[in-house]
Amino acid sequence: MSALSELSNEILKCERCPALVRNRTKVVPGEGAENAEVMFIGEGPGWHEDQQGRPFVGPAGMFLNELIQSVGWQREQVYIANVIKCRPPQNRDPLPDEIAACHDWLDRQIALIKPKMIVTLGRFSMARYFPGKSISKIHGTSLVKDGIIYFAMYHPAAALHQQKLRQTIMEDMLKIPPLLKTPGESPPAAEPPSKQLNMFEV
Ligand code: URA
Repeated sequence: MSALSELSNEILKCERCPALVRNRTKVVPGEGAENAEVMFIGEGPGWHEDQQGRPFVGPAGMFLNELIQSVGWQREQVYIANVIKCRPPQNRDPLPDEIAACHDWLDRQIALIKPKMIVTLGRFSMARYFPGKSISKIHGTSLVKDGIIYFAMYHPAAALHQQKLRQTIMEDMLKIPPLLKTPGESPPAAEPPSKQLNMFEV
């Protein structure tokens, strides 16, 4: 069994957060290629993910699949994980203690997969690598740290609630393949104020 499968098995048994343990149907460690170049990191499992034990399999996941295919990739060639591995009750935001409790699971996944790029989906995942930043300002931009390219994107669910964001997210996705060829920092997107959607930061 690979080290990543062993880690997934450990995550499946996690009981660090009593409220999440009580509420969950299945733990959702993550899935994808063990040597993926690109890792997508979302927030946490929703209802569908909790039922199936797999990340991004509901409506937001369908859009993520479309995004992955839009750059000519297959879902199986990337790795998809979340900041927290268990669904919060009523899909509430993860609590700081829960994020902290789950922190090293994700770090250990990243250490084993060794991705070239981490794509953060939404503000919880972004907060980890772009602390203090606003997603409406930095989506579609990257930074390089310790040899990993971090790329910030809106959460795919944002497009389900706000149709205008769909195009923005699709355009941001298209920036990823060139970055993988020539790693480097990109400047924050200079957007007109009308496109700065601060009120909806999924
Ligand atoms: N939203 C997330 O952040 N992660 C999932 O796995 C599904 C929906």
